[in-house]
Amino acid sequence: MNKKIISVFSQNLTMYFKNKITHDGERIIQRLSLFMIVVASGLCVSIPFFPCVKIERINSFARLESPGYMQDIEQLCHTDVDERRWEYIVIHHSATEKGNAARFDYYHRKVKKWEYGLAYHFVIGNGTFSRDGEIEVGERWKKQIHGAHTANMNCNRVAIGICLVGDFENGGPPSENQLESLVRLIQYLSRKYHISSSNVLQHKQVHQRCTACPGKYFPFAELKTRLMQIATKERNHIQEL
Ligand SMILES: [Zn+2]
Repeated sequence: MNKKIISVFSQNLTMYFKNKITHDGERIIQRLSLFMIVVASGLCVSIPFFPCVKIERINSFARLESPGYMQDIEQLCHTDVDERRWEYIVIHHSATEKGNAARFDYYHRKVKKWEYGLAYHFVIGNGTFSRDGEIEVGERWKKQIHGAHTANMNCNRVAIGICLVGDFENGGPPSENQLESLVRLIQYLSRKYHISSSNVLQHKQVHQRCTACPGKYFPFAELKTRLMQIATKERNHIQEL
């Protein structure tokens, strides 16, 4: 009798554990499925935004850096080779929304097949692939090689080429940081190489094939005014001394 009771009891106990294990197993599978659904939905929602997040990070970095962003122009313009006799400064826009020196260098070297790559001596970023207002120095400047930024070779031999990233013909004007960096760079270069204000030109002013560069929204008059104001201030300061 006792044996029968024990046998029935042990059968019930086995059944109970079997059920429990199955039940627990189902619960684990249910929870795992739910977890995977949540992860998958999260990925589906976020994947399309990944590139935007990346660009936004670059832009927010640029915004964070830009207000106090000032480079040492003298250090930037320093070269270890003999300096050329520069007589002109020619301003360009890249006619692209985005870019930096490395990207333009790749295009000029690999696509255009220009031996010295980047056609300009300096590139001023707009916060896309370099910081807003950041001045990048090209190899042509470091090695004091002629530019390839106009179709006029006589001009290229004596003209410093500065390119601002952006399309100022079909988009809007350059950013304030770009303009500020351009003013500082021109101010330094024109003082160092004795380049007069009348020799600071827009690409379209150079006699060559027709071009709109640096675009109708480029504030050339504003640039000249700022350069003149700085020159006047410096003159007054020298007279005061
Ligand atoms: Zn140009």
